[in-house]
Amino acid sequence: MRKSQHEKNAASDRIDSGRVDSMAEHHVIIGGGPVATNALESIRAFGNPGIEITLICDEPAHSRMVLPYWLAGDVPREHTYTADDAFYQKMNVTARIGERVAAVNPQDNTVTLENGETLSFDKLLIATGSTPLPLPVQGGDLPGVQSLWSLDHTETLLNATNGNDRPRVVMIGAGFIGFIMLNAMDKKGWQLTVVEREAHVLPRMLNTEAAGIVETWLTRQGVLLHTGTSVNAIHENDDGSKQVELEDGNTIDADVVIAAIGITPNLGFLNGSGVETGEGIVVNNRMQTNFPHIFAGGDCAQGPVLYSNENEVHPIQPTAVDHGRVAGANMAGGDVEYPGSLLMNVLNVCNLQNASFGNWADPNAEAFTISNPDGFVYRQMLWTEDQLTGAIFLGRANDLGMLTDVGMVKGIMQTQTTLGPWKDYLRENPFDIRRAYVAAGVAGKLTSQTLLGKPAQARQYRFGDAQPAGQSSPAHQVFVGTKD
Ligand SMILES: Cc1cc2nc3c(=O)[nH]c(=O)nc-3n(C[C@H](O)[C@H](O)[C@H](O)COP(=O)(O)OP(=O)(O)OC[C@H]3O[C@@H](n4cnc5c(N)ncnc54)[C@H](O)[C@@H]3O)c2cc1C
Repeated sequence: MRKSQHEKNAASDRIDSGRVDSMAEHHVIIGGGPVATNALESIRAFGNPGIEITLICDEPAHSRMVLPYWLAGDVPREHTYTADDAFYQKMNVTARIGERVAAVNPQDNTVTLENGETLSFDKLLIATGSTPLPLPVQGGDLPGVQSLWSLDHTETLLNATNGNDRPRVVMIGAGFIGFIMLNAMDKKGWQLTVVEREAHVLPRMLNTEAAGIVETWLTRQGVLLHTGTSVNAIHENDDGSKQVELEDGNTIDADVVIAAIGITPNLGFLNGSGVETGEGIVVNNRMQTNFPHIFAGGDCAQGPVLYSNENEVHPIQPTAVDHGRVAGANMAGGDVEYPGSLLMNVLNVCNLQNASFGNWADPNAEAFTISNPDGFVYRQMLWTEDQLTGAIFLGRANDLGMLTDVGMVKGIMQTQTTLGPWKDYLRENPFDIRRAYVAAGVAGKLTSQTLLGKPAQARQYRFGDAQPAGQSSPAHQVFVGTKD
């Protein structure tokens, strides 16, 4: 159930009162991604300063979202980092980077590290993310066949292609993350082939018609596509290059093969712990597991969802950030309820912008559709009565109207606004989202909506000692500044 602003303010008062309740607790965080860093900032923003925090992560804290920019050569590796020693010191966090948790023991409130050491906790946050699935075919483990998910994977690919201006890359799997990385490779002018087992690309993001438009676009950009077929085996030539053998009899030559066939939440270390898991760790709307002092969030968690009564895993950055903030505030003694995450995929495919939101594949929804394949434009709005509960939008990346419309559709859905007569207006005028957005008061709702009941602090991490380059204007504070 959603909270009123009054209840949220009350929750924020309770967050403040947590300063007394949580004296000298020890909070352990497993992970170093956006869930972990946002949670520790919330604990510090709202909790008793005496709370001890230990963070354990096998990788340096970084944003996976920035990896494509590093791959494309737009930023150096360091710009992917989201925390360093100085940051942890400033936040008074004991960071154990490069270490792994092997087991969680809720019965005696301890975690066991891979080195055998045991740490006790009062509160625990599991923020272990997910791992790419291995390619289960002959040759799937050859050198030069790799996933593309982490800092190490990105470095391996950059090393493997160093000195080769136009490497031949075969990407197996045409999903959201694979295509984010494909875009970076396209920018570099690499020779790209995509193999997708399903009938069309982006099967978990677009319907058949929209995906068809993307396929035409990709083909015109020179990307070779093989859909509706899978890989039988990968063979290595004497010079180290590969031959990818497909089920339909085709063979593709490659310098590098990228396996992008999906991910799985990192849950193995919970076996036998009693922490309830389904597709991910099952959490309530306070991010608590079935053990109230153990929290989970992000890619490894199966949490509440807007426009659904079922918990789902939403492995996307905005969900990870929200989960981390809510978990941290509640660990610090608050009482914050999360309304649920909105599935959103916004993706630039070689300069064709794609977006899908919410229940974009709902067969029971009423659909308004505009399709102009020759102009590479597609819009489908899916309605449950007068509420927009799903959407698919395609348009050129340099079409500013498309980009702002996508943002407004997201706002309409996030605020769960009912559009009343503006639904019919959008049926007639699907390119005039702005009028419905303004008339229904969505901007006002968004500016007053907060996740934790009070304004956010600026993020505490700065790369090195870098300071913001300029002062943000008051308008920036209102419309762009982050909010709790
Ligand atoms: C290349 C790429 C691009 C992306 N782009 C986008 C995008 O544009 N938009 C979007 O919404 N999402 C994007 N994502 C997805 C987004 O990055 C994830 O949803 C997000 O990182 C999840 O955050 P998290 O904190 O749950 O997990 P992670 O960021 O994966 O962090 C979890 C950390 O915990 C560590 N860990 C796991 N197990 C243990 C253990 N037992 N002990 C210690 N440490 C452990 C992991 O190694 C990892 O460092 C992208 C992902 C990738 C790979």
